[in-house]
Amino acid sequence: MKGLARTGRGAPGWVEKVKPVAGPRDAIIRAIAIAPCNSDVHLIWGEMGDFLPSDRIFGHEAVGVVDSVGNDVKDFKVGDRVVVPAITPDWGTVASQQGNHQHCSGPLTGMPFDMLKDGTFAEYFHVNDADANLTLLPDGVTLEQAVMVVDMMTTGFYGAEMADVKLGSTVAVFGIGPVGLMAVAGAHLMGAARILAVGSRSNCVDLAKEYGATDIVDYHKGDTVKQIMDLTDGKGVDAVVVAGGNASTIGEGLEVLKFGHTLANLNVMEEAMLPIPLAPMAFGLGGKTIKGNLCPGGRARMEQMLALVKAGRVDPGKLINYRYTKFEDLLPALMVMHDKPKDLIKSAVIL
Ligand code: NDP
Ligand code: ZN
Repeated sequence: MKGLARTGRGAPGWVEKVKPVAGPRDAIIRAIAIAPCNSDVHLIWGEMGDFLPSDRIFGHEAVGVVDSVGNDVKDFKVGDRVVVPAITPDWGTVASQQGNHQHCSGPLTGMPFDMLKDGTFAEYFHVNDADANLTLLPDGVTLEQAVMVVDMMTTGFYGAEMADVKLGSTVAVFGIGPVGLMAVAGAHLMGAARILAVGSRSNCVDLAKEYGATDIVDYHKGDTVKQIMDLTDGKGVDAVVVAGGNASTIGEGLEVLKFGHTLANLNVMEEAMLPIPLAPMAFGLGGKTIKGNLCPGGRARMEQMLALVKAGRVDPGKLINYRYTKFEDLLPALMVMHDKPKDLIKSAVIL
């Protein structure tokens, strides 16, 4: 079978591999919708991915059809259309039982795709622990919507959850690419009164408003911190989600965050150190919390997200504005995420 691999730093390329085989509790899935993620871009083009073997097939966002299942799989059968979360942990470990399924067997191991085994940029791919990780594609949910649930929606919504958005909160979302846009939508659903969205691409700005942003802050047009403080009459915000920028964006977020409140980071940061300004932290005594995590995955989380989509509470399918229709288009779909044309929000291949 064919797959798109990281053949070296900055070198995506097609490889030919043997079709994977399901263990007793696993499933093999034939992809019918696949999307590349900016985390794939970080890992393929960045040095962070140098530890990976040179034929590792990439990708962790997909919807597919069950091609085969192991003998112990109870809830799924050949031919089922299934939503596959980006995060497919081993639910049996102590860390998973303690609520840290994203790091079930060590840091980031809740995402075996990319990190530990071949991913979803393939004609067929392997899913461990099928009963705990797969979900049936609900009637009425499109492939476009479902493939945006598996990573973009669960991640953005988790940002709003981690930042502890409450009814009436004022929230700042730094970055309104697909992840930040979903953080805006999540904060909106959780009852935020004001959502200040930081970004500049005009398609993203339009969609941010549609998903619930009340104010747009263009970080190219002056100091972001000053703009947010001006918009909040010097008070700052109740919750911050960081989904864009770099390590210093955390510092900006802390400057606009009220004392005693929480900043949630979703960004993959490639810098060696996190610069934290101490004055806005009241010299270490400001009661501000910094959180950051890989998004939640697994079956229950997908069912929770898909229920919102099915009920019409949010439409993550709108994120896709570079749509491809052939398996071979995976390479241009990945390249467009890397090259980031001005009008890009998110690419996907819908077969
Ligand atoms: P994008 O690159 O599409 O979006 C980034 C956003 O950040 C854009 O809106 C951009 O603005 C904005 N931005 C850039 N520089 C700054 C700055 N200095 N200050 C404020 N905003 C800035 O990324 P994605 O939405 O796809 O992903 C965001 C991050 O989330 C990535 O690092 C990705 O790897 C990570 N991620 C994390 C996951 C997790 O589990 N935690 C899961 C999936 C992704 P502009 O409009 O000008 O382009
Ligand atoms: Zn991702």
